[in-house]
Amino acid sequence: MGKTHYYLGLDVGGTAMKAGIISADGSLVHCLSEPTNKNAGPAAGLALMEQVINLCIKKSGIDPDSIKAFGTGVPGIIDLKNGIILDAVNLTDWKNVPVRSHLQKIFNKPVVFLNDANAAAMGEAWLGAGKGAESMAFITLGTGIGGGLVHQGKIIEGRHGLAGEIGHTRIEMSRPRPCSCGQFGCLEAYAGATSVLKRTYEALAEDFNKISDLHEPAEKKTLSCKDVFDAARNGDPIADRLVEETSSALAIGITNILHFFDPEKVVLGGGMIAAGDDFLKRIRWFVKDQSFKECAQGEDICFATLGNDAGILGAAIAARQMFISTN
Ligand SMILES: [Zn+2]
Repeated sequence: MGKTHYYLGLDVGGTAMKAGIISADGSLVHCLSEPTNKNAGPAAGLALMEQVINLCIKKSGIDPDSIKAFGTGVPGIIDLKNGIILDAVNLTDWKNVPVRSHLQKIFNKPVVFLNDANAAAMGEAWLGAGKGAESMAFITLGTGIGGGLVHQGKIIEGRHGLAGEIGHTRIEMSRPRPCSCGQFGCLEAYAGATSVLKRTYEALAEDFNKISDLHEPAEKKTLSCKDVFDAARNGDPIADRLVEETSSALAIGITNILHFFDPEKVVLGGGMIAAGDDFLKRIRWFVKDQSFKECAQGEDICFATLGNDAGILGAAIAARQMFISTN
């Protein structure tokens, strides 16, 4: 009997550096996470990657030789071909960081490189909410909006790894809002958490005389997206309008995916899904109202199930895929 193979996934993030090891059947054997100091610079970041990987291997008790490949999900703008983070945006001074070659040199393993949204998409497609679907679109609703497309178990990368960047597709032509990418009218400029809050403060300033639960905390502390969704659930009129607009914007983005890619499932992940069932119901309603009835509807549009583990699991699955295809 051959020795069991294992694969390691690394999730490089602005708040945490996470590593996990999966067995050949995809089950998570061990994982751990260390906080990232986003201002410490790339050298410290690479050192932390090494440390987290070494610690994960050690604590798992697995023979390092039986780990056949690594997968790394990274944030920001990347050079997919050369395994370089060009600009991590949320990590200070992370420009032109050669993550893949560094890890390959230190650990002497093949390393597959993918952006963080694609890593999470792989995780959900293989082991989470998209399991069993032939094709899946993944949308991550965080500060910004990322996305990934998986078809027959593989990421559709596109020429630069930019396929599935739904957050920067345009949903508004007249008086479009500015987006973090420098363009105008992108989905992210309406439905990303940062944009939802921006719209909330604008709405509060406009409707100052209107009764809203959001006014009072606005004076005491900074609002969070959760405050907006909570207030909407409690019937607050301003919050309700904001959630309705956010759901409608997302539904336009989802409908565009449905009519372009026609996936079996659309999986929504990221911090904003904590908003819960009411949010999902509204999105489904808008999508149903504006999309071809043959396209994914109702239950086919659902929340992710792997939470914070999606990235490490997906990166490790991608490592397994690479190893199997080259051996
Ligand atoms: Zn944009």
